[in-house]
Amino acid sequence: MKTVKSQFKFKGGVHPDYNKELAREQPIERLLVPAELVISMSQHLGAPAKCLVKPGDFVRRGQVVGEKNGFISVCVRASADGKVKAVEKRLGPAGGKADAIILDTTEKPEGEAPAVADGPVLPPLDWKTASREELLKRVEEAGICGMGGAGFPTNVKLNPPPGKRCEYLILNGAECEPYLTADYRLMLERAPRIRLGVEIMRKILGGPAVRIAIEANKPEAIKAMEAAFADIDGNVEIVVLPVLYPQGSEKHQIFATVGRVVPEPPALPIDVGCVVENVGTVAAIADAVELGEPLLDRVTTVSGGAVATPKNILAPCGTKYSDLIAFCGGEKEPVAKLISGGTMMGFAVSTAEIATTKTTSGLLLLPRSKVSQYSSQPCINCGRCVRACPMNLNAAEIAKAVESNDIKAAEDAHVMTCIECGACSFSCPAYRPITQFCRRAKNSIRARIAAEKAKAAAAANK
Ligand code: SF4
Ligand code: SF4
Repeated sequence: MKTVKSQFKFKGGVHPDYNKELAREQPIERLLVPAELVISMSQHLGAPAKCLVKPGDFVRRGQVVGEKNGFISVCVRASADGKVKAVEKRLGPAGGKADAIILDTTEKPEGEAPAVADGPVLPPLDWKTASREELLKRVEEAGICGMGGAGFPTNVKLNPPPGKRCEYLILNGAECEPYLTADYRLMLERAPRIRLGVEIMRKILGGPAVRIAIEANKPEAIKAMEAAFADIDGNVEIVVLPVLYPQGSEKHQIFATVGRVVPEPPALPIDVGCVVENVGTVAAIADAVELGEPLLDRVTTVSGGAVATPKNILAPCGTKYSDLIAFCGGEKEPVAKLISGGTMMGFAVSTAEIATTKTTSGLLLLPRSKVSQYSSQPCINCGRCVRACPMNLNAAEIAKAVESNDIKAAEDAHVMTCIECGACSFSCPAYRPITQFCRRAKNSIRARIAAEKAKAAAAANK
C-alpha cells in the first residue's frame, strides 16, 4: 500500500468556504431511538419499496417493512421496534412525496419473544468462506444503497453485467460538500470497518485494484486510512486529491484517481472498469456481513452556525430533523435556511418534520449572516459559469433555454450530463439559479421519456 498525489486535475470546479471546523472535532454520538420515526419507502434511487405493513401492526427492529420493487430498488427495514400509527405520503429530504410508515416506538408488543435488537438481525457471515453469491445476497437483503447521496442499490453496482469487469474499486472519502464531516469522522473512528468492507467488496468484484480518494485537507483521515490499510495485500493506493469542489463527484473522482473518463449517459463507471463507493457504504457492507446488521442507522452531520452544538450523529433512518436539532441543543439563533445535505447540492426544506433516509449526510441550519438575499438578474455573458462547470457544459446557454421553456435546446446542449453540482450558480455574479434550471430541464426530459416508453408499451400490448 502506498500514498500518492493525484496526477489528474479536472476542468472547472470552485472553492466554496468549507466551514468544516464547526463539526470536524465532534466524535460520532449515538441518538437513542426517538418516540416517532418516519420511515420512507423511497430512501434509494429507483422504484420506491412496496410497503408491507398497515396501521396497527407491530414491527421489530430489522424487520422488512418495504419490499424491493424492481431491479433498481432496495428493501426497507424497520429501524426500531414499534407500532405502525399510519402509512401516508410524506415529504422527503429532496422535496418529493413518498409513502412512509409513521412508527410509534413507545408502543411495544406484549408477551412476545425478545426484540430482534437483542441479537443479530441476520446470521453473521464469515466473508472468507462465504461465496461471492452469498455476499452479494447479503448486501441486497441488508438494504444497502450508496450513502454518499446518490442512493444507487449497492448489490447492483457490485454485480457488473456480463462482459464488464471492475479493474478499480474506488473509495470515495472526498466529502467535498461544505460543512459535512460525517465521512471524515467515519474514516477516523471506523477505519478498520472500512478496511473489512474493502476486503469483502474485493472478493465480490474479483480482486480489483483499490484507490482510496481523500482530499488533501483531511490529513488525519489520510493517516487513519494509512494505518488501517498498512498491511493489505495487492494493488492498493491512497490517492490524495487537490481541494476542489466537486472532487467527490463519481465521474471526477474516477478521473482524479485513475485518469479515465466516463462517457455521456447512459454510460456508467463500470464501462471504464470502475466501481465507486462512499466510505459509509463500505462500512455498512462490513456490518451487514460480519455482524448481520442491515442498514438501519447512519451518521448525519448537523451543523451550519445556527445550531447550538454542531454534531455528527448516528441515528436510526427515519429520525425527524426536529429530533436531531433537539439532540444538538436546539437553535442558538434564528434559522434563515434549513438545508437537507450540503450547501452546494443539498435542498432547502421548509419544515423540520422531514425525516432522515439512508442517504442523509447532513442537515444545515444557516443563520441570516450565511444566507444571501439577492434576486436573480439577467445574464451578463461573463462566462464564469462556463469556466466553473466541471462537465464542460455551456451552463449560461442551458439556463437561457430553460428560462424560455425551450427544453429541446437545453437537451441539445447536453443538460442530461449535468451532475447538479451547483458550481455554476455559485460562480454567477447575476445570482441566476442555473442549477435549478438544469434540474427542471432534466425532470422534464425524464418525464417525456417515461411517457414515450409507456405509450410504446401500451401500443405493443394492443
Ligand atoms: S450544476 Fe450542472 S451546469 Fe452547473 S456547473 Fe454543475 S454540472 Fe455544470
Ligand atoms: S455566470 Fe451568470 S451572468 Fe455570467 S454567463 Fe453565467 S449565467 Fe450569465
